[in-house]
Amino acid sequence: MPANAANPSGFRRLLIATTNPHKIREFREILAGLPYELVNPDDLALSLAVEETGTTFAENAALKAMAWADAAGMLALADDSGLEIDALGGEPGIYSARWAGADVSYEERFQIILARLADVPAERRTARYRAAIAVARPAPDGLAGVVEGTLEGQIAFAPAGSGGFGYDPIFYVPEQHRTVGQMTADEKHRISHRARAAAAAREMLQRLANESN
Ligand code: IMP
Repeated sequence: MPANAANPSGFRRLLIATTNPHKIREFREILAGLPYELVNPDDLALSLAVEETGTTFAENAALKAMAWADAAGMLALADDSGLEIDALGGEPGIYSARWAGADVSYEERFQIILARLADVPAERRTARYRAAIAVARPAPDGLAGVVEGTLEGQIAFAPAGSGGFGYDPIFYVPEQHRTVGQMTADEKHRISHRARAAAAAREMLQRLANESN
């Protein structure tokens, strides 16, 4: 099928280019109602390891979306996300998933971060989660667009809560008076960086669908 063409059901196919089942579920919820048939790598029996050689979340999301679009021969969406701590010069940043070592637990990472911020007062403990979502067509068209979403917060003085994943127990949201780890999934999804990026991605995908009509 040519890139972005309508299949017999009248819907364009869009590959959600991740093998993380949580992300696949989240994207399916967020992108519901758009004129796309959503496809997973598993549906295509496709597996691909894309080297994340970019220096920003947006670059890495774009690299992944373009590589998957080429491999699958269809429109593809990919994301990249992480935590930026201002007092650590933006670390862990694009290395969030493997920061301090791939085998290091998040509890150990919390201890390393809290020790490095031991003398940093609340007002300088600012941090943000950032998510980039890229959409690409197979070559030669390539990248169709990249959007971003952020959630501003502070690094807590101690971990709290067991909700969410990753750095959530030490990511404190002042307006909510609690860490993301202390929020329910619904509460997190209302404000998260990924939800904000996904809302922008929805608009981009709707625009692309309108353009190709
Ligand atoms: P990726 O986007 O799957 O590459 O994830 C990057 C890493 O950023 C994750 O493994 C986490 O360490 C961190 N991260 C991204 N989003 C979140 C979040 O919502 N909560 C906690 N950690 C996150």
